[in-house]
Formats: sequence, C-alpha cells, structure tokens
Amino acid sequence: MKYYIPKLQLGLFSTSQTSIEDKFDGLPWGIPSASWPVCRSCDKTMSLIAQLNHHAERLNLGRSGRSLFIFMCCNPYSQCEWTWDSAEGCNSSFVLEPESLETGITYPPDVAQPDSAEIRFWGNCTYNQERDPGATIWIETEVRVLGWLEQDGSIPESARSDFMSESRYGSLDREYIKSVYNGTKLGSVPSWVQWPQNSDWDFIGQFSDYYGFHTPLPNRDMIESGVWIG
Ligand SMILES: [Zn+2]
Repeated sequence: MKYYIPKLQLGLFSTSQTSIEDKFDGLPWGIPSASWPVCRSCDKTMSLIAQLNHHAERLNLGRSGRSLFIFMCCNPYSQCEWTWDSAEGCNSSFVLEPESLETGITYPPDVAQPDSAEIRFWGNCTYNQERDPGATIWIETEVRVLGWLEQDGSIPESARSDFMSESRYGSLDREYIKSVYNGTKLGSVPSWVQWPQNSDWDFIGQFSDYYGFHTPLPNRDMIESGVWIG
C-alpha cells in the first residue's frame, strides 16, 4: 500500500501563511472561532495538532476543499491526563466544509486580545516563568508541509484489516509489524495500535512524537533566536 510522508519545514523559516495549507501544530487556518474545540476536562481551548486538507489519494475526505482539524488539550496549567482517550473530551477531530472556512489564521477564542498575546512554545514551559494564562497562547512550534513524499510500502492491501482486528493483529509476526514505517504518515496501516479491536474504524494516518525533516536542518542559534510567527 502507498503511504505519504510529509516534507516538513519549521514555521520559523516559512513565510507568513497566506492560504490554507497542510500543517502540524501552530495556529489553524480558516476555522471559525466558534468551532475551536474546548476541553471538557479543564474548560480551556485545545491546541492544534494537525490541519490536513482533502486529497483524493492521500487523505480522502469525500469532497474537494474540505479540511480536517485535529486538536488536543495541551494546556500546561491543566495537565489533563486523558488527552489520548477518544471519549473523555480532551481531544477533538472534525472536518469543515469549504463553505464554512474563513480566511486567515485563527487565534484561540479565549485569548481576548490576540494582537498583544504572548505566543509561547513548549520549550518555554521548562523555564517555569510566571505567565498570564489569559494572555498566553501555548502552542507547539508549527511545521508546514511543503509536499508529500509518496512511498510504495511492502504491506499489501489484503493485510489492512489485520491491523484493526484484535485476534489477527495479535498473531501477526513482530518483524512484519516492525517493517511498518513508524513516523508521521498518511495511508497504509498503523505501526502501532492501542486497541486493534476497533475494526469498524478506518486508519487514515499517524502522527509521530518527533519530526523528520527532509529539508536541511537549521542550526540551533537560528532557532533559539527565533521570532516565530509572521
Ligand atoms: Zn484540558
């Protein structure tokens, strides 16, 4: 089965966003403020994990112009524990129609004055400095998707359902499972499944906890001096 690996660039080195793009983290494009999801556990706005647009082969959302939004509660003051669970209300994913999308970057609706808000990366959390929670937008440094690298995987289409079946997944050869690409990708099968008994779910992609760059890496001084958002 084919799968697609994002060719990423740190937002720090990207030009200001002027149109809808595939991206990870940062601030979403085009989402109406009223659609920004709020965490059921801590009642604060969630953080964007990914915004991905319809593509007939890579991510089929059923209609051109649709955009998939994936959010999770990342508020360091809340420290919500159940961000991984699909039923606890600490994460949210949804698709918006092109007619519902607005133009421009959207700030979290609980930030009263986005123009004067502090934007903080996760790296800033470690310094334990006093912040004004109402004026601080806690976001992960964004990465922008410059393109997608199409890969021909070794896993056949006939094996797709094995990865979503508890009994069949458990009997798969470990080396075979290890051969599945474990980085961020769209398509094919997951490299790891929390609950393989969810056979009525379709796998669309996975997000790794690291970024893999196919572009030259900037040096550390450039990143640490960063003025991040344009
Ligand atoms: Zn929360």
